[in-house]
Amino acid sequence: MKRQAIVAANWKMNGSLSLIKEMISALNSVKLAENVDVVVCPPAPFLSAFAVCAQSESLQANIHLGAQNVSEHKSGAYTGEISTDMLNEVSVNYVIVGHSERRSVYKETSTQVAHKVKATLNAGLTPILCIGESEDERTAEQTETVLASQLQPVIDEIGIDKFIDVVIAYEPVWAIGTGKTASPEMAQATHLFIRQFLANANQIVADKVPLLYGGSVNAANCEELFAQTDIDGGLIGGASLKVDEFKIICSSAK
Ligand code: PGA
Repeated sequence: MKRQAIVAANWKMNGSLSLIKEMISALNSVKLAENVDVVVCPPAPFLSAFAVCAQSESLQANIHLGAQNVSEHKSGAYTGEISTDMLNEVSVNYVIVGHSERRSVYKETSTQVAHKVKATLNAGLTPILCIGESEDERTAEQTETVLASQLQPVIDEIGIDKFIDVVIAYEPVWAIGTGKTASPEMAQATHLFIRQFLANANQIVADKVPLLYGGSVNAANCEELFAQTDIDGGLIGGASLKVDEFKIICSSAK
């Protein structure tokens, strides 16, 4: 059985209303393989505009809207935060949770990330759970320990069976925005470790979870990365802001 493949665009704190419009009309003409979904995650102020524009342009059904972060709380006195209910109101389907920039700059812990994954699932949204090691951790051969320590709190919080509704993005921190992509072989080996880690808890779930690779994916390297057995698409930062390049990446997924 073919796994669901996903190409997700993480715009980070970039983009504009005009890029939203440009991206929607460009993506409407992209030819996607049958099992591929595309998710565009613009900054929160543009979510609503994306939803409105997607509807008026009759955007193809396998292109979805995602948020870059969410609060683990339902509502209340949390200045600056955004709730799952609010995301649902503006037609968001996916949420990036635990991106390495949230973990390092905003000090999100793996426990907090686990709470966010739970809140996201409880609201009927799909979390894109990001995990990944730093350069020092890879050099110290700590990659597998680090990934396990990021995954286990989420397994403990939601239970392995709920991972059937989770997307995982493996993003080595040293490859994010650096132009230093993991080699396809290195990425595949790490993805296989992640799948086996999940399989130790539930083989059926592990076989189904889409595992995305992220970190300097571009039009030139996407095909080889996406061809790896355990790589089911990508989480794309810089290259997702360039309409023509992102189209190539989307159409390379299978
Ligand atoms: P990059 O970012 O593609 O620019 O390396 C990926 C990400 O941070 O999700």
